[in-house]
Amino acid sequence: MAFDFDLFVIGAGSGGVRAARFAAGFGARVAVAESRYLGGTCVNVGCVPKKLLVYGAHYREDIAQSAGYGWQVDGARFDWQTLIANKDHEILRLNGIYKRLLTDSGVTLLEAHARIVDAHTVEVAGQTYSAEHILIATGGWPQVPDIPGREHITTSNEAFYLPQLPQRVLVVGGGYIAVEFASIFHGCGAQTHLLYRGELFLRGFDQSLREHLKDELLKKGIDLLFNADIARIDKQADGCLRATLKDGRALEADCIFYATGRRPMLDQLGLEAAGVALDQRGYIAVDDEYRTSVPSILAIGDVIGRVQLTPVALAEGMAVARRLFKPEQYRPVDYKLIPTAVFSLPNMATVGLTEEEARAKGYKLKLYESRFRPMKLTMTDSVERSLMKLVVDADTDRVLGCHMIGPDAGEIMQGLAVALKAGATKQVFDETMGIHPTAAEEFVTMRTPTGLG
Ligand code: FAD
Ligand code: NDP
Repeated sequence: MAFDFDLFVIGAGSGGVRAARFAAGFGARVAVAESRYLGGTCVNVGCVPKKLLVYGAHYREDIAQSAGYGWQVDGARFDWQTLIANKDHEILRLNGIYKRLLTDSGVTLLEAHARIVDAHTVEVAGQTYSAEHILIATGGWPQVPDIPGREHITTSNEAFYLPQLPQRVLVVGGGYIAVEFASIFHGCGAQTHLLYRGELFLRGFDQSLREHLKDELLKKGIDLLFNADIARIDKQADGCLRATLKDGRALEADCIFYATGRRPMLDQLGLEAAGVALDQRGYIAVDDEYRTSVPSILAIGDVIGRVQLTPVALAEGMAVARRLFKPEQYRPVDYKLIPTAVFSLPNMATVGLTEEEARAKGYKLKLYESRFRPMKLTMTDSVERSLMKLVVDADTDRVLGCHMIGPDAGEIMQGLAVALKAGATKQVFDETMGIHPTAAEEFVTMRTPTGLG
C-alpha cells in the first residue's frame, strides 16, 4: 500500500522534532503535526524559559555580592515585565529556528491538533493522512490534585506569563519544578514559601544533598514547610488566596503555584479508537524499540513516562529515526548514568548512584564529601556553601556517583558524567590534574574518606 508519508510525527517538541528531522535526513517522507508551539515544552514552558528566569533571579545575589568587589550599584531595581518580555522575544526566535529546522529538512509541517484514526491514519484539521509509521511525541501537562479551589492554582504553564511578580508566593510540591520556581520567585523578590507533603523535598536525590539544599534555601530566606498539604484554597474579597492546610493551619498568598508532577498529554489523541494501550501509570506502554500495542504506532518522550528530560526525549527520537530509516546506525538508548541538574539557587547536579541507592544495591562504600565556601563569595557577605560528594565502590574503586550543590553544578557534572560513563575509578579521579583555582578541582582532590561501609 502506498502511504502519504513514511513517518507521521504528532508533537513538535524535543523528541518529535529530533525524530522528524533525522528521519527526513535519512530520506524518509515525514510530516509533523503541532497543535500549540514549535519546540514543545522545553522551548516554550520548560527548560529554556526556566533557565532564563533562573539567570534573571540570580542577578539579585550578583548585585549584592558585587559590593565586596568594590562595585557600588545604587538604586538597583528589578522589573518582572522586562524579564518576561525579553524571555518571550527569545522564545519567539527559537520557535522560528525550530520551524526552519523542520522545513529545511523537507518535513511537512501541519500546525494543528492531530488525532489518530487507525494504525496508519492521522486526522489533522479535517484532513486525513496515511503513514507507514505514526510517532506519538505529545509530551506532558501539569497535574494538580482535585481540591476545592483548584481553579485558583497557577502551574508552570501560566507562571511563565504572569503579568506581574506576585508579592507572596506559595509553592506546592517537592520535585524539580517546585524547587526551581521557589528559587526564581524568591530571587526576583517575592516572599516565598515552599510547601511539601513529605519529610524532605527532592525524593530520590542523595540525602546529604537534599539536606544541604534545605539549609541553603532556608539561609536565603525561603520559608520551607514540610509534612504539610493543602486541603482547600479560597479567594478572599481582596483577591488574595487563602490556603487551608489539612492540619487546619492557613496561609495567605497572591499566587499559589503547584508543581505536583505531570501527566501524559493524551487529550483527543484517539488512542482508544486506534487500540493503543496504556501502562498501569496511564502512560503509553511501549516495548524496547518504542512500539506501542499497535506495532505501526510508536511513542517517545514524556508521554511514555520513563525519564522526563529533554536529552532523553532527543535520544529516543534519534533511536526511532535510525531504527526505522538507518538501521545500520541504530543503537538502543542507554538509560544508565543519566546526569541531571536542578536549577535551584544554588544549583544541584548529580550523576550515578546516590549513597542510599548504592547501599541498597549491597555495595561496600567509600564516601568523600567536601563542604566549602566558594572562592567567589569569600569577599562578600554571602553565607552560601557548596557541597561535593563522591560515592565509591570500596571493592573495585569505581566511582558510582558524583553529586554537587553549588554554582554551575550542572556545568561541572556534565564532564563528570563522561568519566563515569567511561568507568572511571577513584584512582583515575586522583590522578587527574585539577584546574586551579576552581571549585570543580575539588572533585579530583578529595583524598580522605568521610564515610566507610
Ligand atoms: P514536549 O516537549 O512536551 O512536546 C510535545 C509537543 O506535542 C508539544 O509541543 C504539544 O503542543 C504537542 N502536542 C500534544 N498533543 C498534540 C496533538 N494531539 N497534536 C499535535 N500536537 C500535539 N528537562 C530537562 O532536561 N532540563 C530542564 O531544565 C527541564 N526543565 C523543565 C522545566 C519545566 C517547567 C518543565 C515543565 C519541564 C522541564 N523539563 C526539563 C522537561 C522537558 O521539558 C521534557 O522532558 C521534554 O520537553 C519532553 O519532550 P517531548 O518531546 O516528550 O514532549
Ligand atoms: P516531580 O515528579 O519531579 O515532582 C512532583 C512533586 O509533587 C513531588 O515532590 C511529589 O511528592 C509532589 N506531589 C505529587 N502529587 C502530589 C499531590 N497530590 N499533593 C502534593 N504533592 C504532590 O514533578 P515536577 O512537576 O516537579 O516535574 C516533572 C518532571 O519534569 C520532573 O520529574 C523532571 O523529569 C522534569 N523536569 C526536569 C527539570 C530539570 O531537568 N532541571 C526541571 C523541571 C522538570 P512525592 O515526592 O511525595 O511523590
